[in-house]
Amino acid sequence: MTKQKYIVVGAGPVGSLAALYAANRGHEVEIYELRSDLRDPSTTPLNFTKSINLALSERGINAMRHAGSKTLLDHVMNSVIPMSGRMIHGKRPSGELYEESQTYDVHGRDIFAADRAELNKTLLDILEEMPNVKFYFNHKLTGADFKRRVAWFEVRNSDKSSPGRAKEVEVSFDFMMGADGAHSSVRYHLMKYVRMDYQQEYIDTLWCEFQINPNTKRHNTHSALERFAISPNHLHIWPGKQFMFIAIPSEDGSFTCTLFMPSANYAALEADSSKLPSFFDQHFPGVTSLIPPKELIASFETNPHLPLISIKCAPYHSGSAVVILGDAAHAMVPFYGQGMNAGLEDVRTLFSLLDKHEATAESNDPSDPAPLDPSLQRRAALAEYSAVRAPDAHAINDLALQNYVEMRASVLSPAYRLRKALEEWLSVYVPRLGWQTKYSRVSFSNERYSDVIARSEHQGKILNRVLKAAFWTPLVLGLAGYYRYYPGGQRPASGVVGNVMGYVAGLVRNFRS
Ligand code: FAD
Repeated sequence: MTKQKYIVVGAGPVGSLAALYAANRGHEVEIYELRSDLRDPSTTPLNFTKSINLALSERGINAMRHAGSKTLLDHVMNSVIPMSGRMIHGKRPSGELYEESQTYDVHGRDIFAADRAELNKTLLDILEEMPNVKFYFNHKLTGADFKRRVAWFEVRNSDKSSPGRAKEVEVSFDFMMGADGAHSSVRYHLMKYVRMDYQQEYIDTLWCEFQINPNTKRHNTHSALERFAISPNHLHIWPGKQFMFIAIPSEDGSFTCTLFMPSANYAALEADSSKLPSFFDQHFPGVTSLIPPKELIASFETNPHLPLISIKCAPYHSGSAVVILGDAAHAMVPFYGQGMNAGLEDVRTLFSLLDKHEATAESNDPSDPAPLDPSLQRRAALAEYSAVRAPDAHAINDLALQNYVEMRASVLSPAYRLRKALEEWLSVYVPRLGWQTKYSRVSFSNERYSDVIARSEHQGKILNRVLKAAFWTPLVLGLAGYYRYYPGGQRPASGVVGNVMGYVAGLVRNFRS
């Protein structure tokens, strides 16, 4: 394998994992990050909030499993909390509060609550130990020429006590991986080199973070579980038709909560935040006993009210020089808990294609002593990557948008529950059909997202037909039986069909009399 200079723009979870994959293949890796080192306590966290707890599932875990690090997955999985399902919170007409657990998976598989910053730090710690990796924090990508393979970075002064003029540095590279988030600079420059289709949408929902504190009253008791005010092994949802409040557990016993709500409702409450506790009592019953009203108002006033963006674009690469990954390629709304998981899966998919094309080139003529041109193989790998990955990224973007309706409204609908129950029954009792819920395919498998949509639609059509048949068949057979055997029906019906016909005929007769 010919070693090359790979530069990664953005040291978020996706950029850091991409750097690890590249470094483990022996390349010289440089990581350029706009902000200062995340591990430095004075660094302002992303999105200016304390932390984001997120749902880590199979795709993200699988990408880390294949990163070539002995410690990564152990470190990450040691500090996650398994979540076996959703806990739906509500109020009965009698005024009584209730909790209803809906398991994610009939086979008992979990998703995991992970602290995004901790996961990111673990990756940076592992990279720091590698001799072929260099970090450049406080470096902001400002320009790139993908023909000459040079990029320009503004070097920001991290020492706030002595502000000086930012200087610019020029960096050459063989291959650039852009993992610089939803507002990606790499994507912006890439657009000048390829005919990129680009679509972005802000949904009319803002999000704000709140905190349920550890259960201090029962702290220091024998059971670690008692640190948590509500079940630690669920993703808690207070659904509302237009709004949603969720809570995800953290290791210290607290819960990171998020309020998702249309901007008009935010504006109304911003005008008079004293109404917040009664608004919560009306729409999210029980929350004010977990977060005291004063804290609720303080978090609402202090924490930012942030927008949610959904981005689709294609292709993701230019020649053999550059590719974009993670949110830079496909920022999505967070309702399927897949944004980071999909970004980490990008990395695994990309490197499996780079490896495949390299192996194919090497095996073409093993006796030829001429060195292989790595850029030719990479060009082919990147073309395949864009072709394969774009439909999948578009599919999960769509699923994430649809899942907002499921989380805030469908979880309460009988039709949704019936389909879930039927699909789970088929998955357990008729395994050879390969039946699975859409949620299971997305969260517990590594199936292509576009295949998940196709299979789920196919399953939906079959279920509809079966349900329609289950409804109409006895009715039709019964009516046929009625007109054949009554009045004056002399012949007794026999067999299953006959029994059904006779049964419905009897019903019709009773109904008429
Ligand atoms: P980012 O995390 O955005 O990192 C990009 C990095 O690039 C940053 O460090 C940034 O400073 C740097 N950068 C930016 N511009 C430049 C530049 N010009 N030069 C150099 N560096 C630059 N995902 C899940 O999988 N599960 C969840 O449950 C989940 N919940 C979420 C909840 C909310 C409320 C939100 C908003 C998102 C959620 N996500 C979730 C999505 C997840 O947070 C993102 O998909 C993930 O962080 C993307 O990682 P990334 O590395 O691609 O980008």
